[in-house]
Amino acid sequence: MAAPCWVLRCCSCRRFQAQQAKRSRKWSCSVCGHAARFVLQLYGQGSGRDCRLHVQKLNLLQGDAEEAAARSARYGIVGLLCCSPS
Ligand SMILES: [Zn+2]
Repeated sequence: MAAPCWVLRCCSCRRFQAQQAKRSRKWSCSVCGHAARFVLQLYGQGSGRDCRLHVQKLNLLQGDAEEAAARSARYGIVGLLCCSPS
């Protein structure tokens, strides 16, 4: 069985990305390298394939991504990668 993945959004470069779910609270953005201490608003998780497809879609949308991400909670795979609580 494939490891579950999360769809995350970096709060620095605002890009969506799929990363393997892990217990560690330390994350780093695969796009800009921004180091995050925790994931804010994780709605759930999905398979790696689902997440990667979803990331592509969200990154294409960009402008409407917030809304799309909210809607995609149905997919159960969107989180926000953040360096500090806001
Ligand atoms: Zn980033």
